[in-house]
Amino acid sequence: MSTIQQEGKMRFTFLGTAPGKSLLGKSHASYLLERDDKKFLIDCGEGTTQRLLEKNMIVDELDFIIISHLHPDHVSGIFMLLQTLYINKRKKDLFVFLPEAVEEFKSFMERLYIFSDRFSYHIHIQKYTEQSFKEIGVYPFRNKHLIGYKSIVEKHNMPNRLLSYSFKIEGKRKSLILSSDISSSDDIAEQVKSCEIIVLDGIHPSFKSVQELLNKSKTEVYITHGDYANLQHKYADLLNEKTKLARENDEIIF
Ligand SMILES: [Zn+2]
Ligand SMILES: [Zn+2]
Repeated sequence: MSTIQQEGKMRFTFLGTAPGKSLLGKSHASYLLERDDKKFLIDCGEGTTQRLLEKNMIVDELDFIIISHLHPDHVSGIFMLLQTLYINKRKKDLFVFLPEAVEEFKSFMERLYIFSDRFSYHIHIQKYTEQSFKEIGVYPFRNKHLIGYKSIVEKHNMPNRLLSYSFKIEGKRKSLILSSDISSSDDIAEQVKSCEIIVLDGIHPSFKSVQELLNKSKTEVYITHGDYANLQHKYADLLNEKTKLARENDEIIF
């Protein structure tokens, strides 16, 4: 058992930091969390399996996967991961938690010829709620990231529920807010009041709204989900030893 596990702390690792468009040498959104004997992912964008291969975590190591919302940069890597685990003869049950569209996800797996009946492991795919992960100190809360699709969804009478989540993650002594994708800093403003660390979507909120948010808090901030050069440019006036850009494989222990 590692020291972190003995101390009951949480380890948060950036596996993918690319935004909604692919960038050379970067993976899409995915975060590895480890606490006690549990290891899980929040989001599973393209390239996640490569990152897990680097860590020798492609058989029985992961316990579950939570998807913040169904944009491709947050979920597109999951099918290759499920297939790789099965080819690698995973034995342990795997839980996949989705914000919505559980039945559509299951039937899309079948259309891709990845039949869970043939898997070496049991897969449980289910929708989560704000209370689903309280035993491990993870609290999803809804944000407005997908609200801009409301009119098109209504116009075509589509089943999309526009569900998108940010997460409050309680460590041993500190709490971390993982914004995931948000519409503006207002989406997390309330939760930020009671946390010490923010992992912030650097793309969607305006500079001004981030500046206002950070002015009011004394938190440690990791800005992610973008091209480094662009983020560097956008946030130049805010970056310092407590507010930095996240790099892949950066770890936060709290
Ligand atoms: Zn995104
Ligand atoms: Zn998104």
